[in-house]
Amino acid sequence: MMNQIHSIKGVKDILPDESGAWQYIQQKARDIFHTFGYSEIIIPVIEFTELFSRSIGETTDIVEKEMYTFDDRDGKKITLRPEGTASVVRAYIEHNLRDTAPFSKLYYIGPMFRRERPQAGRYRQFYQIGAEVFGIGHYMIDAEIISMLNLLFDSLNIKGVELQINSIGCPQCRPAFREALKGFFADKTSELCDNCKRRFEFNPLRILDCKSTHCHALSEKAPKTVDYLCNDCLTHFNGVQESLKTACVPYINNPKLVRGLDYYTQTTFEFIGGTLGAQNAVAAGGRYDNLVAELGGPSTPAVGFSIGMERLFSLFDSSNVTKQSPSVFIVALGEQAQQQAFSIIIQLHKEGISTVMDYNGGSLKSQMRKADKLNSAQVIIIGEDELSKGVVVLRDMQSKAQIDVPIAEVVNRLRK
Ligand code: ATP
Ligand code: MG
Repeated sequence: MMNQIHSIKGVKDILPDESGAWQYIQQKARDIFHTFGYSEIIIPVIEFTELFSRSIGETTDIVEKEMYTFDDRDGKKITLRPEGTASVVRAYIEHNLRDTAPFSKLYYIGPMFRRERPQAGRYRQFYQIGAEVFGIGHYMIDAEIISMLNLLFDSLNIKGVELQINSIGCPQCRPAFREALKGFFADKTSELCDNCKRRFEFNPLRILDCKSTHCHALSEKAPKTVDYLCNDCLTHFNGVQESLKTACVPYINNPKLVRGLDYYTQTTFEFIGGTLGAQNAVAAGGRYDNLVAELGGPSTPAVGFSIGMERLFSLFDSSNVTKQSPSVFIVALGEQAQQQAFSIIIQLHKEGISTVMDYNGGSLKSQMRKADKLNSAQVIIIGEDELSKGVVVLRDMQSKAQIDVPIAEVVNRLRK
């Protein structure tokens, strides 16, 4: 026997019995996004590394240690995308989408790659469903995009998910907060984890996002971003909250919600799944008013989010999603019957009637068992008797009623 080859650690297969529910979730997302005026953008899986280091930030976990980066044959550094926003922004700038519409509402669905430690809810290839809006700075669009996510979760009957929101201010007011935070942690640095010791120097906001329980406890009494917001940011944040109330979207304030990517400004939010364990954020996002300009485009306000598909899937009750099963199973007994069956199945496929047949043959009993197993609604049986009479037996698997149907009429009959 040859050695068996396994999949790579941290990636997974979506098997046929799950893929129906997987598609169902994505279709729901598409339908709801379309209702809100979003169009799909299909972005590449590989980009120049610089796109991510510049947008996500050099001192973030993703860029420092999680990216799959390789040298292309011409020496250029290429990265498997760890997230979607950077690519959407690049495409928005590259194709001058700003000139083609007053504002852009875009969504994407696809795999992302991060070399993290694989564990429950954390994969190295995982899927995201994300949405971005470019060209609207008003607080109401923040509330609208959050309410869109909320509607998606409701329509998928997802229970026990809590929306947390915060505002991390803008380049005008964040320096003061940063200083206050550094002041707060200055006499605690020796107690911080190694990661946060470095964050203290380069990116102190990220200490608030640390998953270590000790750092978490240390930051309990840390200054709150909302106490340092400038007037514009405060007005914006209050507006988001009022609008969420109008939209009847429940939320709680989490003053420590700073998000792990550097490009956010003002609003940040996460949907936390109560039953998800340590990796509990099922969706996350926020406003990023400076990213388009930072990547070389015209100054453009923007807001977006991304859903972790695997985590959403694990919260979803797929038992109500009907499994794919062929409507018709053809049982043919003997070589001649099989020839007849083959011409029938070809016509049924052309009519778009999902039909299968086991060309391996076998007894009536064994083939009926297969039809049953596949959950087919109808079975066509053709044996020598039927052939000589020019008919097939059509069996309704639910009522168990059987009738003879002339061969020439069977396709027509099933079409109805
Ligand atoms: P986390 O706090 O879980 O590390 P993050 O801040 O890195 O999340 P984002 O980059 O904002 O997450 O990604 C948005 C969503 O994508 C997350 O809320 C999560 O649901 C999902 N996600 C992120 N990383 C992974 C992963 N390695 N495996 C599966 N899902 C992931
Ligand atoms: Mg992460």
